[in-house]
Amino acid sequence: MRFGKNQEIRFGTTNGAYSLVTDREHYDSQITLTDYEAELVVGHFGANNIHVGRVQLNPQTAAKPFRHYPDGTSIELNLVYPKEEKTELRLYISSKSGFKPEGGEIWFVFLRNGDIWIGSLTESEWRKEAADIKKDENDDLYQNTIYDPDPILTQKIKEREVYVRDRELAIKRMEMAGFSCEYDEEHKLFISRFSRKNYLEAHHLIPIGLQAKFTTALDSLDNIFCLCPYCHRAVHHAEESKARKILEKLAEKRPVLETYRLDIHDLFNLYAVEEIV
Ligand SMILES: [Zn+2]
Ligand SMILES: [Zn+2]
Repeated sequence: MRFGKNQEIRFGTTNGAYSLVTDREHYDSQITLTDYEAELVVGHFGANNIHVGRVQLNPQTAAKPFRHYPDGTSIELNLVYPKEEKTELRLYISSKSGFKPEGGEIWFVFLRNGDIWIGSLTESEWRKEAADIKKDENDDLYQNTIYDPDPILTQKIKEREVYVRDRELAIKRMEMAGFSCEYDEEHKLFISRFSRKNYLEAHHLIPIGLQAKFTTALDSLDNIFCLCPYCHRAVHHAEESKARKILEKLAEKRPVLETYRLDIHDLFNLYAVEEIV
């Protein structure tokens, strides 16, 4: 699978791919490269420079240089088309050569400054949201000042290095939603003593911390969703299937994905809750 914006930020690349290491692949010490990961690797080395047939027939051509993530150590791994028809691209992994991911880990390749990097992480390490996304979603100050009439607090937000959000937009979105949770309008937790309405929080579906990656403003009426605190916590912290369910429902409400040219998989990826195969 191709890297999403979350991984592009994390690994400092615009070109990467990843997938799950199966127990079988670990046991056999070989990974079959498919889809985009094959395209990326072949594009880097050139189809004509990849050895066809058994490694032993031409060990020099079979061995390819990679940089190992995260420290950048140079390693050599055998990469071959086992069959004449080049229908399968195979990468050999071994502890001796310096790359032997466990079954169940996520392995990945990406290009950076002309080098091809390879590495692996456990699933929970992999699912960490990009720091940029997290930073701006620790947004208590934003939630707490939506109904605050004092402009000084807005100024304080500006002093921090975060993207400024227009609280008027958040209020407008809540009004348009009739002060109900956009995931489930039955969710009425308590009445806010500031708005005297059902208490809601404003959530940016495309995380505002990613603004640098988009030309269109992310602090927009379409991209702001009002959620009850339960749903808001869940979209950021719940297990993958639950988070996906909320994201899917929100994405269907307005054409946000179309506006920002993303598909539902990209969205899952931004929250690091995508299904990994
Ligand atoms: Zn949020
Ligand atoms: Zn809710």
